Amino acid sequence: MRACTLGQVSEALPTFRYHPSLIRTGSVAQRPIRCVVCNEDRRHACVGPAYSVEEIEEGSVCPWCIADGSAAMKLSAEFADGHSLRDLSKNIVET
Ligand SMILES: [Zn+2]
Repeated sequence: MRACTLGQVSEALPTFRYHPSLIRTGSVAQRPIRCVVCNEDRRHACVGPAYSVEEIEEGSVCPWCIADGSAAMKLSAEFADGHSLRDLSKNIVET
């Protein structure tokens, strides 16, 4: 079995170990975005609870940055001092 047979697919989605069917479950939408992590123009966006960074705008991170962990690294670093904001948003959501 060949490891790479994606010749006709220009932008193959990454493989998520924990979310094998992201588009079907609605966690990844086919939507043109500029990813806030890698600054690449992508045709897919993470829109569901596939990632745990709640402070970022929905659909602003591409699945590739979620898959390789760079989104978690960059965003957790940016929001490292935002715990009060996180608690605040949680209180607002849980009404
Ligand atoms: Zn990205």
